[in-house]
Amino acid sequence: MRRNDSPEQCHKSLIKFSAHNDYIPEMKEKTKIKNRYYKFSQFLKERYGEKVWKIPVDAGFSCPNKDKETGEGGCIFCRLDSFSQVQSQQGIDVGAQIREGLCLGRERFGLKKFIVYFQASTNTFAPVPLLRKLFEQAITYDGVVGLSISTRPDCLPKPVLSLLQELSLRTDLWVELGLQSIHDRTLKILNRRHNYADYLRTVEKLRSLPLRICTHLMLGLPGESRDDLLETAHEIGCSGIDEVKLHPLLVLKDTPLANMFFKGEFTALDSEQYISLACDFIERMPPKMVMQRLTAEAPADILIAPQWTMNKMRVLTGIENELKRRQTRQGDKYNHKKMNV
Ligand code: SF4
Repeated sequence: MRRNDSPEQCHKSLIKFSAHNDYIPEMKEKTKIKNRYYKFSQFLKERYGEKVWKIPVDAGFSCPNKDKETGEGGCIFCRLDSFSQVQSQQGIDVGAQIREGLCLGRERFGLKKFIVYFQASTNTFAPVPLLRKLFEQAITYDGVVGLSISTRPDCLPKPVLSLLQELSLRTDLWVELGLQSIHDRTLKILNRRHNYADYLRTVEKLRSLPLRICTHLMLGLPGESRDDLLETAHEIGCSGIDEVKLHPLLVLKDTPLANMFFKGEFTALDSEQYISLACDFIERMPPKMVMQRLTAEAPADILIAPQWTMNKMRVLTGIENELKRRQTRQGDKYNHKKMNV
C-alpha cells in the first residue's frame, strides 16, 4: 500500500495484508510454505517483492508492570536493557535512530524497504498524543513500508486502538503481544500481571482491524511440562492470529528469575530439548501462520543461561534438521478445534 493509493486500492491491499480476516475469499488459499515452516523472510518477499529490514527503535517508554506507580517489579525474567538490538539506542531521539537504521540498511546491505519496530518495553504505555507523534513520524520516512509495535495484552485501551486503526489505514501495521504461555498459573509465576483471558479479549478487538497480530511465546518456563506447551501451541494455532515469535526462556543477571535459577528452583532447557519443543510447536501451527522468530539472544555480559542461545544459526539449523529428520513440516499436527482451557 502506498500513501497515494485510492481508498479502493488501499482496501484491496489491506485485505491481502491482514490474513486473520479469514472471511475474505482470497485468504482461504493455502499458503505454500517453501521451507519446512513459513519464514518471515518468505512473507516479506511475497508482500513486498524484495528483502525488508526491521529497524528496532527504543522510544524510551516504560512498562505498566515495571512502572513505580502501576507496577510490581515487572516480569521475573525482564531486564529492560536486554532488548539487545536496541540497547545502544537508549536516550537517542527516535528520528535519529530511524535515520541511522535507514542509512545502515541502504549503504551496507543495499536495501530499499524497511519496517520501523518499536521494540523495547511496552510501546503503547504513553499518552496517545505522544504515541501518535512518534508513530506518525516513523512512517513519514522514504522507504518505510510498515510499523511494528510491541506491547502487553492489557495495554491497549480504546483510544490506543482507535489510533492503531487510523495507522492501519495508512501503513502496514503489526501489533506484537507478549503472552509467553496460555496457562494462568505460569503467568502468575512469571509475574506477568495479566491472564490468558486478557490476551483473548485483546486479540478479539485487534482481529477487527486490518493489521497483523504477532504473539510472543517462551519455551522452558518454570513449572511447565511438554504437555503444557502443546496446549499453548494448540490454542495459539487456532486463535486466528497471524504470526508467532518463539524463544527459550533466558536467565539474565540481576533478575528474580536468576535467583530462582541459582536456588535450583528450575533448570534451563538444553539445546536439544529446545529444538525438539520448537519443532513440536511448529508442527501444530496452521500453514498460514508466519514464524517470525524462533530463538533469541541477549548481551553476553548479562546472559546467565542458556549459553547455547549465543549461537543463533546453530539453533535455527538444528530446528530445520530436526523437522527433516521427523519428515514433518508446519501444519502437519494442526488441529483447528479449540480446547476448553
Ligand atoms: S511486560 Fe515486557 S517490558 Fe514489561 S516487565 Fe514484562 S517483559 Fe518487561
